[in-house]
Amino acid sequence: MTMSPSQERADFGFGDERGSRRTPLLPGASGCALASTLAKGLPNHQILLLEGGGKNDDKAYTTLAERHWALVAPGYNWGYKTIPQKHLDDREIDQSRGKGLGGSTAINFCVYTRGPEADYDRWADLVGDSDWAWKSSLSRYRRIEKCRQPSTKYQEMVHIATKDHGEDGPVDVAVPDTFEPGFTQYMDAIYKHHPKNLDVNSGNPVGAAIQQNAMVDGQRVSARTAFLKDVPSNLSIKTEITVHKVLFEGKKAVGVEHAGGKSNQAPI
Ligand SMILES: Cc1cc2nc3c(=O)[nH]c(=O)nc-3n(C[C@H](O)[C@H](O)[C@H](O)COP(=O)(O)OP(=O)(O)OC[C@H]3O[C@@H](n4cnc5c(N)ncnc54)[C@H](O)[C@@H]3O)c2cc1C
Repeated sequence: MTMSPSQERADFGFGDERGSRRTPLLPGASGCALASTLAKGLPNHQILLLEGGGKNDDKAYTTLAERHWALVAPGYNWGYKTIPQKHLDDREIDQSRGKGLGGSTAINFCVYTRGPEADYDRWADLVGDSDWAWKSSLSRYRRIEKCRQPSTKYQEMVHIATKDHGEDGPVDVAVPDTFEPGFTQYMDAIYKHHPKNLDVNSGNPVGAAIQQNAMVDGQRVSARTAFLKDVPSNLSIKTEITVHKVLFEGKKAVGVEHAGGKSNQAPI
């Protein structure tokens, strides 16, 4: 590979002796899941996660009840704004994107939601690939989930059927054990005018329901906590490295250039 003077090969801590090929990924929701799956499925392959932000493991921002604060946690948000919006009094609108391990799952609101069955089937039709259909998507959801039944006092309002949900996956999903005072009466008032839906994630999201959350024991579940808790030895994670571009040889991605003008030659 030929490199321009501003590029150099960076030492990411392992050389050729440790493995044949390195695949660099950005560790947001998709990157963490992909890295974990690749590393476990391909033990002779070196996987490298490159993250522009930090580790995002400050306990002050992982409590579920405080989850809306993570959005403004120092270093957790790239802080993007739109350009001034003509039809919104020239205001710049927040376009938050998560920074650091877990990406936007470290700052999101932890609402665990799937779409309607018909949307997935239409998606599959549009792309001509039945893998996107509800049936196949459901089997993938079941693989990644570890769903818990609600506490008995809410079982009239939420029901997690095992045919629709997984119990052994890395992503903990639950509803809180306790809601605010008056919550049950509030829901009863809504049920008078809307059908009760015991599980909005069953493929039918219509009706009034309690939403499930990506949470466990009152804590946020992010892609970091779900997919990077047992890091295999062939998965390396580097934080505070902002990738500037992917380097190509023809149509083949062969490396990345990151902040500081350094590059990591990473055959894919
Ligand atoms: C405020 C907010 C609330 C949300 N609430 C919910 C919710 O309640 N429920 C829900 O299901 N979804 C929610 N979402 C959406 C959900 O979090 C995202 O759809 C999901 O995280 C996207 O995953 P991703 O892998 O595409 O990207 P991200 O999770 O955003 O990950 C991208 C990763 O790439 C890294 N990165 C980006 N550029 C570079 C670079 N140049 N160099 C190195 N690293 C880089 C980032 O730091 C980040 O770690 C919310 C999102 C936001 C922002």
